[in-house]
Amino acid sequence: PAKVIDGKLVAKQVREEIAVEVTRMKDAIGIVPGLVVILVGSRKDSQTYVRNKKKACEAVGIKSYEVNLPEDSSEEEVIKHIASFNSDPSVHGILVQLPLPRHMNDETILNAVSIEKDVDGFHPLNIGRLAMQGRDPFFVPCTPKGCMELLHRYGVEIKGKRAVVIGRSNIVGMPAALLLQKANATVSIVHSQTKNPEKITRQADIVIAAVGVANLVRENWIKPGATIIDVGINPVDDPESPRCYRLVGDVCYEEASKVAGAITPVPGGVGPMTIAMLLSNTLEAAKRIHKFK
Ligand code: NAD
Repeated sequence: PAKVIDGKLVAKQVREEIAVEVTRMKDAIGIVPGLVVILVGSRKDSQTYVRNKKKACEAVGIKSYEVNLPEDSSEEEVIKHIASFNSDPSVHGILVQLPLPRHMNDETILNAVSIEKDVDGFHPLNIGRLAMQGRDPFFVPCTPKGCMELLHRYGVEIKGKRAVVIGRSNIVGMPAALLLQKANATVSIVHSQTKNPEKITRQADIVIAAVGVANLVRENWIKPGATIIDVGINPVDDPESPRCYRLVGDVCYEEASKVAGAITPVPGGVGPMTIAMLLSNTLEAAKRIHKFK
């Protein structure tokens, strides 16, 4: 059976390492990293994400600020807030919670964030630098960064290996493919229009699945011994669970764990890594701005 890649455990280790660094920085130069989260509107799910991010910051000693703007705010108003944080020395990371209200253009808003404070890594210039050879972005998007961290911490060799990323979203699939390529894998992207996705995926030594379709990846998609990183979080009906649903990944865990060499569970795999990487990016931002090694 496949080795279980324990994202919950790794995320805990990462958070502990960050807490140590935050203290070291504070003791050495008197600076505490600060993250501001801007939420426009009142979506319940977004409010929960923002609350979780705040709690995670507090637990490692990062200062967090929250700005709530009404749903009917104008783009100019949001940009005005972003601009004030761009020049606020106590703020090192600025995160605009997505999705934005429909009347706003994501790119216009994300473009307003200073690339040096863009801890989500969604600024078009940071994405562009991620795609360029010989360049590095200031920040890498948190979920794909979390996938790479899991591969590194479990000693999975990437150089020269075949990797397949299933899904090509701006926030996960596309940056995950760019990161694997930067790490010298040979990368294919499988998406909704791909013919014979199982045949292509079966060539992969490393699979990152970020689709949003429960149990899409079956046993016959997987090369024996492959490493599987399952980003998907999909609710499925489960009358036996107290909430009448449970969460499963994009990969059929039961089947995949028989053939794969290593696999992330859902929940407890990539999920906990995402917020840990946000904390890591915020610490990195503060260190870079204050030239603290
Ligand atoms: P998305 O809907 O933006 O993108 C899905 C991608 O999958 C698209 O590029 C599409 O082309 C591709 N796709 C759709 N159907 C397909 C099929 N049948 N075969 C192959 N490809 C197909 O989704 P997303 O934001 O990238 O999220 C993907 C999944 O990851 C979701 O389940 C989401 O909940 C989860 N997610 C988890 C985290 C985390 O922290 N663990 C973070 C973000 C997203």
